[in-house]
Amino acid sequence: MKLILLGPPGAGKGTQAQRLQESYGLVQLSTGDMLRAAVKAGTEVGKKAEAIMARGDLVPDEIVVGIIADRIEQPDCKAGYILDGFPRNVAQAEALDKMLAGKGTKLDAVVQLEVNDEILLGRIEGRAAQTEGGPRADDNAEALAKRLRVYHEQTAPLVAYYKQRGVLRGVDGMRDIDEVTRQIEGVLGLGEKKGKLA
Ligand code: ADP
Repeated sequence: MKLILLGPPGAGKGTQAQRLQESYGLVQLSTGDMLRAAVKAGTEVGKKAEAIMARGDLVPDEIVVGIIADRIEQPDCKAGYILDGFPRNVAQAEALDKMLAGKGTKLDAVVQLEVNDEILLGRIEGRAAQTEGGPRADDNAEALAKRLRVYHEQTAPLVAYYKQRGVLRGVDGMRDIDEVTRQIEGVLGLGEKKGKLA
């Protein structure tokens, strides 16, 4: 099963992706985590991405598309994966469609976590306070405002993109974590299949 979790920063994509990974053996592919690892390791990609990420802008498409193209070729992705933070604009979505078509496959579903902007700042402040080793470079008010703006301008159009293709499923991302998980399992027709999914 190949899924996308779609939603603004702080919507809970990472939390829910981890739960799906644990329950169903799908691999969580978070471009944000991969880019942060690259920054930490000081790779070429990391050097290009660091300042862009810190101010809340998008890293160039060719970088993230390249990262995902390589990653989904790895053997652990055979059983399926959850894309978290990718695609983030229409160009990335088109690149993904092409990538999958080239492999004779396609997405099963795009799950949209629906949340209001007003609650996001509070959630991200909470996360910044809890992060081991200090807050992320982009978990501050200024970068968050930028990330939300970028989300509405560039990522939100993907809702219509995937609706048109008949794969969009919406869940209420303002409910508590367990309830959101149940809703996701519901829209995907999972629940009875824990651990058995391929
Ligand atoms: P959040 O969802 O909380 O905004 P992420 O961890 O998904 O955070 O992403 C953090 C940053 O990493 C983004 O603001 C952006 O700079 C970069 N990034 C992650 N994924 C992508 C992507 N698909 N395209 C471009 N930049 C990305």
